[in-house]
Amino acid sequence: MARLMSPEPALDTRARPLHDLRISVTDRCNFRCVYCMPREVFGRDWAYLPREEILTYEEITRLAGVFTRLGVHKVRLTGGEPLVRRDLDALVRMLAANPAITDLTLTTNGSLLAAHATALAAAGLTRVTVSLDASDDPTFERMNDAHVPVARVLEGIEAAEAAGLGPVKVNMVVKRGWNEHAVVPMARRFRGTGRIVRFIEYMDVGHSNGWRLDDVVPASEILATIAAEFPLEPMAPTHRGEVARRYRYADGGGEIGLIASVSQPFCGDCVRARLSADGKLFTCLFAVVGHDLKRLVRDGSSDDELSARLRRLWAVRDDNYSERRSAETAGLPKVEMSYIGG
Ligand code: SAM
Repeated sequence: MARLMSPEPALDTRARPLHDLRISVTDRCNFRCVYCMPREVFGRDWAYLPREEILTYEEITRLAGVFTRLGVHKVRLTGGEPLVRRDLDALVRMLAANPAITDLTLTTNGSLLAAHATALAAAGLTRVTVSLDASDDPTFERMNDAHVPVARVLEGIEAAEAAGLGPVKVNMVVKRGWNEHAVVPMARRFRGTGRIVRFIEYMDVGHSNGWRLDDVVPASEILATIAAEFPLEPMAPTHRGEVARRYRYADGGGEIGLIASVSQPFCGDCVRARLSADGKLFTCLFAVVGHDLKRLVRDGSSDDELSARLRRLWAVRDDNYSERRSAETAGLPKVEMSYIGG
């Protein structure tokens, strides 16, 4: 019993503990962001996962429970767009019933959040991160390619805050030639609101986005552009594995984050595993092979067997893709972010 209460933390070959779990609940999305699910690839003919391959909420909850035995405390629901899956609040309620999950969060494009925020909060969600790639409609609609205006996402953010899901983090992916002109307006728009914008370097996830190193706006450039307008001071990280470098406005206008996964990789502190919508475990966002946990669940493995298998998989983990990234590695086989979960 004592062992169950305080599980032995799982450590990989680089002594990185398993602490965070990202769960993709669907590979579908109602946006066609140019850097993630470009419309010319994810069109009518795209083969999404068949329904029977997707983990049920009961299967997800059971697997999440096994992960907590190995040290996971933080769970993030993602996708695809998690809110396109029906009754997501039911899954939140099931996960929230596990006391080992102390941080239960959601990453969403925000377009459907206004309708769901209250139910999600009531079910036990603790926070949300909302993606928004510009604060002006022409740029944002060009990025999402789904005619969704900024106001719809802002309504979602406001509803989340009203439901107690704040402080809301706002993710902005910056792609050269597409939205770098929107960086300072985004900073200005959210300064003093308590919402924390995190500027993210465009990454070479999957293949469909045709990533090129030249398309990346380095975090140093983003930082300098913002600091020229609003002086910034660095802040200390709050915990191991924090991916964003934090800065505060010198005048007290709040804070921002920079996620420099391309120019300043943080593999050394990566404590996160990913579970795809069809139940494959990926130990890195850039992994090629997922380990099929759904098969084990559906074949009748016990929790002890699942736990032992997970521990073995984590023990041999050696991933450090972002530290090895180059123009050449961009061409290596990789899975799409909409599938593995962002
Ligand atoms: N649909 C949800 C959303 O939009 O937040 C969740 C899934 S999305 C894949 C998760 C995050 O990954 C979003 O903030 C998105 O902007 C980011 N993202 C997707 N593709 C990316 C890429 N190539 N480089 C950097 N970030 C990316």
